[in-house]
Amino acid sequence: MVKKEIVSAANLKKEIEEAKAELTSQNKKLKLSVKTEAKKKVNKKKVVTKKKVDKKKAVTKKKVDKKKVDKKKALAKKKADKKKAVAKKKAEAKKKVDKKKAAAKEKVDKKKAEAKKKAEAKKKEEEAKKKEEEAKKKEEEAKITQEEIWEEQLTEEEIIGFQIDKTDMDKLVNRVTEMIAGYETKGILQNILWRKLKLSSRDGSRLALKLERLGNITREKILENGRWTYLLLIKKIPISTKSIENAPCLVCPVEGKCATDGEISPKTCVYIEDWVLTELKTKKRHETD
Ligand code: SF4
Repeated sequence: MVKKEIVSAANLKKEIEEAKAELTSQNKKLKLSVKTEAKKKVNKKKVVTKKKVDKKKAVTKKKVDKKKVDKKKALAKKKADKKKAVAKKKAEAKKKVDKKKAAAKEKVDKKKAEAKKKAEAKKKEEEAKKKEEEAKKKEEEAKITQEEIWEEQLTEEEIIGFQIDKTDMDKLVNRVTEMIAGYETKGILQNILWRKLKLSSRDGSRLALKLERLGNITREKILENGRWTYLLLIKKIPISTKSIENAPCLVCPVEGKCATDGEISPKTCVYIEDWVLTELKTKKRHETD
């Protein structure tokens, strides 16, 4: 402190007041300084606390975030695992189906191969059979028929004059001709016809030659089941008075008035109708006998 010389009471008073003011000012400054320090300390504490809290919060947040991330990851992993499981299941099912398909295909292929083998064997067999048949056919074609031998050996008179013991030949010729006519343009094989008529093959063949020479039928040489035979076809139906001997017109009292377009006509005549039906029945009975 600077020692001042006291000049007067007024000066002293003044100096005392100035010293007081300075003291007050220093006090104020000191107080202010103390307050500031305390505040600073409080603020520092607050900052530290805040930092701690923030750090805690950050750690907690980090933990929460990590948990969230972990949860998300776990969910995603679960989903992925589920997806994988489903895909695996599907793949296994597909594998099974593929295996089944492969087995079925193998079976089908095996069957096909067997069928092919069989078909080839059958084809070979058929070819061999065909060859055999062709050889047989050629052999048969080279043969001459019994009819051809007879035609060579017999005269025309002998063929036309053919007779079967104890048989009315005219009647037989008419009957056989009518039967052949019944088969129209299709004709009938001679062996079948002879069987129906209970004729021997020899008599039947000679009869067919006779019918042909009489101009009633034609004979067509054909191979049937690898053997020569003849198809008999109608050429001309012989007119027999027997066929009209029961016709109602012969004794009809109104025959003079009967005309195709008249009031009395064969188109509407019941006698004609009855007669035709009776004749047809008789003919059929003869054919089946
Ligand atoms: S068709 Fe009849 S009506 Fe005419 S003549 Fe013959 S039976 Fe008589």
